[in-house]
Amino acid sequence: MHFNELNLSEELIRAVEELGYTEMTEIQQQSIPLLLEGRDVVGRSNTGTGKTAAFGIPAVESITESDRKSTAILILCPTRELAMQANEEIRKFAKFKEGVKSSAIYGGASMEKQIHELKRGANIVIGTPGRVMDHIRRRTLKLDSIRTVILDEADEMLNMGFREDIESILADVPDNRQTVLFSATMPKEIMAITEKYQTDPVHIKIKTAQKTVELIEQFYFEVAMGRKTDALKLLLAAYKPASAMVFCNTKVMVDQLTEELVKSGFRAAGLHGDMKQIQRTQVMNSFKNKTAEILVATDVAARGIDVSGIDAVFNYDLPQDNEYYIHRIGRTGRAGRTGTAYTLISGRKQLYDLRAIEKYTHAEIREMPLPEKSDIIAMKKESLVKDITEAQAGHNAYDILDRLASQGIDYREAAARVIEKLLKNETEALPDLESARPLKKGRNSGAKTVKIVINVGRNRRIAPNFILGALVDATGMTGRDFGKIDIFDEHTTVEVPEAESEYIIESTDSIKINGNKVEVKLYKGSDSDKFRNRRSNEKPHFDRKKKAYGNKKRAEIFSDYIPDRKKRMKKRH
Ligand code: ADP
Ligand code: MG
Repeated sequence: MHFNELNLSEELIRAVEELGYTEMTEIQQQSIPLLLEGRDVVGRSNTGTGKTAAFGIPAVESITESDRKSTAILILCPTRELAMQANEEIRKFAKFKEGVKSSAIYGGASMEKQIHELKRGANIVIGTPGRVMDHIRRRTLKLDSIRTVILDEADEMLNMGFREDIESILADVPDNRQTVLFSATMPKEIMAITEKYQTDPVHIKIKTAQKTVELIEQFYFEVAMGRKTDALKLLLAAYKPASAMVFCNTKVMVDQLTEELVKSGFRAAGLHGDMKQIQRTQVMNSFKNKTAEILVATDVAARGIDVSGIDAVFNYDLPQDNEYYIHRIGRTGRAGRTGTAYTLISGRKQLYDLRAIEKYTHAEIREMPLPEKSDIIAMKKESLVKDITEAQAGHNAYDILDRLASQGIDYREAAARVIEKLLKNETEALPDLESARPLKKGRNSGAKTVKIVINVGRNRRIAPNFILGALVDATGMTGRDFGKIDIFDEHTTVEVPEAESEYIIESTDSIKINGNKVEVKLYKGSDSDKFRNRRSNEKPHFDRKKKAYGNKKRAEIFSDYIPDRKKRMKKRH
């Protein structure tokens, strides 16, 4: 359905055309007509499906001459970035329409400037819950003429601990308002808000082609810049998949990587669109009959490939599109089998892209340490011990040992030489990643840090994301600027850059976290021995310093995640 099939004003149609939109997305098709009618709506749809326009277009359309001096529409967003982004988009929709004034209000920015904009008669206000509450308290934002409240990314706002603020805002706006809620997921808390604050809402749920990726365990590895090929070799040597796919974003990369792997003794073959059909068929056949253990491919070339029994998918490059990630990892874990997906990332940008994928797929992608050459040697030793224990000796072997003994090489020495050679054959070609240190996170990494202490903790059911949400909202800094968050029974400490600590303490003067009024101070104590880190009772978490996963040591981690290849091969037959 095209936008001009809606009963929109000329000004909006023009703006939408200028943005290059032609067809409406599904969520837009279903929600815009209802929103224009003034109905309450609960819209559920994945990230990237155009929800901003779904509520932004009707919002702009509804502004009239009589809204000149007062706020008619209030949009709540979880973060400063999202508020700014929604504001920019709404301004684009309003480009040809006179009298629409939108304003974004969020923490960490000048209060005066925001007050000024509000006074000039912003009829669409987009803000983060904390700052919106702040303006309401100061009476610089008046609620009495608001006729529509929109909660964008409602689930995220609740996750960040904004429930109390949101409820307080909803309770204070006039009762006969329109209430609209968009969310990617629909947890119980949202249903509760819907029931309490919406009137006869229409529920819209857009199903996506998304596959269940539940059977696929997902991990990622941070790799130093330029060392992905070495890292992949180590991973292949450690995990020894009998059948694996490796995805690259370009044909050149497929060729280079395949060549490198073959040179190091891996049975790898490449597949991309520039190859002749006959070559492609050969490659596919060798992969299907397991002569080639590793298929290196581009997304396009691999489309539609359906090979059973793929143990692992490696993302050498991050996919350019979130959907591709799902398609890629869906190659493993077929037909009810479990599979594993490993993603290599270098640099902070890729880490953020990975986080976006994680959010999009609603799956946890856990960090794992890269195996080091020494880990693989340790594993090889284990398997040699096992192999030799289970092996049988015949006369030929004894014959050789007797001849060696006559030359003065005793049995122990002879065995040692043979074992050494076996070990070397398998591990000599492996790269050493020692020099590749994991990335440091955060703009301020390296800068001196101090801790601040907040006087709420586990006793108030505080979670790290509540803390982070409140800090980001109050300071306008990004989540990356904050370091380790440790939650104790009655307090929480947060690592912050020393240079910003004073500013952070100032700007959190009157904040609330999960509904609790809190006090934020510079931390002076030492908690390491007195309290246990909350993480110790949580899911295993990779600790960089200790190089351990939860309480486990490296060796244990690998033996846990490296499936026994022989067993797997048997299963297949
Ligand atoms: P969501 O909030 O659902 O995650 P956004 O509103 O951020 O999605 O939109 C994602 C992208 O899609 C934006 O770049 C937006 O400009 C674009 N977009 C939205 N609607 C359309 C449309 N009808 N046609 C083309 N692009 C669109
Ligand atoms: Mg959005």
